Amino acid sequence: MTSAEQGVLLDGKALARKMRGELRGEIEALVAQGLTPGLDVVLVGEDPPSQIYVRNKQRSCERLGIRSRVHRLETTTPQSELEQLIRDLNQDDEVDGILVQLPLPKGLDAKPVLELIDPAKDVDGLHLINQGRLLAGEEGLQPCTPLGSMALIDSIGYDISGKKAVVVGRSNLVGKPVAQLLLQRNATVTMCHSRTQDLAAEVGQADIVIAAVGYPELVKGSWIKEGAVVVDVGINRRDDGSLVGDVEFEESQKRALAITPVPGGVGPMTITMLLYNTVDAAKRRRGAHLNV
Ligand code: NDP
Repeated sequence: MTSAEQGVLLDGKALARKMRGELRGEIEALVAQGLTPGLDVVLVGEDPPSQIYVRNKQRSCERLGIRSRVHRLETTTPQSELEQLIRDLNQDDEVDGILVQLPLPKGLDAKPVLELIDPAKDVDGLHLINQGRLLAGEEGLQPCTPLGSMALIDSIGYDISGKKAVVVGRSNLVGKPVAQLLLQRNATVTMCHSRTQDLAAEVGQADIVIAAVGYPELVKGSWIKEGAVVVDVGINRRDDGSLVGDVEFEESQKRALAITPVPGGVGPMTITMLLYNTVDAAKRRRGAHLNV
């Protein structure tokens, strides 16, 4: 790559469109057999961003022909009532996917609720059983944002095997599972976090950088190795309301082979992989596998 060139955009919107088109075919085939996939979302309280996320998820389901139901519970709902709802959804054969929108209001404990979800319906891939399966390299439902990140890297035909990958952030939601997915694909993976001593040096060695921190432009363009693939998971809101990622975009793009924009990179892929997981769960529960 010459200095006049810049890295290609890993366009999450375009890839999401393509994958949703492919999923539509899968869904139509299931519906034709009388097996409409169904996602049930549990929303507790009035948190405005959560309301928006849930509405987006519901709309995306409807557009594709996935049956979607939202269970709205009051902020004051007791833990026992929420847990009973999850038990009921586990028993309901029409429900393929169960998603509890986080964060829960104060006074409710998310952990036991998530652990109650039937792992076969755990479309967020956050149940300990599914986390364990991922760690053991066994099949199971996997978290949506890491899956979306991998799909973006694959979209340019990049060969992950043998490459050095640096994951910045070690949350159960993003950092840890994406590191496992990279390891499964034979990358040599380094995980960085808030106690990492020289983040610039770590990132500087990476052929693949995944940034999932939640700190605006923490990863500087000057750190990026020439020809690296950069996936920016971060979503941070500036004072003027605009969104910015965890990576300094413009400087990084000058060095990168490919890079995700924020917004329009990982974000659209996260919902797409939720739809994918719902259809996958529907098929697995009926003993088939997804062809997409
Ligand atoms: P968490 O807050 O759970 O984890 C952040 C991680 O970043 C922690 O492991 C923390 O380290 C690490 N970290 C914090 N400061 C530094 C630092 N200075 N240097 C290196 N590492 C640091 O965040 P999430 O994983 O849930 O989310 C990360 C970002 O991704 C957020 O911006 C979030 O909004 C976004 N996101 C985007 C999604 C999408 O669809 N695009 C989906 C999910 C999340 P330590 O463990 O040591 O504290």
